[in-house]
Amino acid sequence: MIFHLLSRLSAKVPSVVYRAALIMKPQVVFVLGGPGAGKGTQCTRIVENYSYTHLSAGDLLRAERSREASEFGQLIDSYIKDGKIVPVEITINLLRKAMEETMEMDEKKFRFLIDGFPRNEDNLQGWTTVMEGKANVKFVLFFDCTSEVCIDRCLERGKSSGRTDDNRASLEKRIQTYLQSTRPIISLYEKQGKVRTVDASYGVDEVFNNVKAILDKEG
Ligand code: ADP
Ligand code: AMP
Repeated sequence: MIFHLLSRLSAKVPSVVYRAALIMKPQVVFVLGGPGAGKGTQCTRIVENYSYTHLSAGDLLRAERSREASEFGQLIDSYIKDGKIVPVEITINLLRKAMEETMEMDEKKFRFLIDGFPRNEDNLQGWTTVMEGKANVKFVLFFDCTSEVCIDRCLERGKSSGRTDDNRASLEKRIQTYLQSTRPIISLYEKQGKVRTVDASYGVDEVFNNVKAILDKEG
């Protein structure tokens, strides 16, 4: 069923990503790590210093949840509160659209940090079906720290973020989802020699120094 849907979706992927890919194929870095590992913080720093566009799967889903005409608002809301991974058909479409729009506005913007994706096997299948051959995944930037650090940071963030999932109950589920579903995806990329790991338990500046070393080396 899901493969059928994805194939249909794939057939429809038109246009801009495909056409732009003929000119300059999107270059993608997947950014992964536990909830609160600092993915968003470091992506912001990367964008300030390198020519990357930051696309956060979580931010795109939250924006879609808030869009008045969205048919998926309630579904996304319940998945996020439960720390579960939203069905890939929704997420991949949002990512594809955001990439298309970015490249449509400025064809020089073909480098993307895709933050919080692929988070599970379903995400990976969706990417392969819809985007394989249309974008080039350079490597996975992996922010590694303990679950305790992740939980402490999210609870701290929760004091002002207004996020429905920065609370202990949601966090326990998010950590489980991360360990059970996302870590195996990171291991899979590790076997392909595609993971660049950063110790995310240090302060923001120190972590960013290590990120810079990786990006400067990768070009
Ligand atoms: P993620 O995108 O991985 O969920 P964020 O970048 O939103 O994580 O960071 C989660 C929280 O932790 C934020 O409140 C952020 O300010 C804080 N934070 C991020 N990186 C660090 C760090 N290296 N040291 C301490 N706090 C951090
Ligand atoms: P984040 O902002 O990355 O912490 O993500 C918050 C929540 O959004 C997650 O707990 C999931 O419910 C959902 N989400 C984020 N990224 C994805 C993804 N790649 N696939 C499905 N759901 C996602």
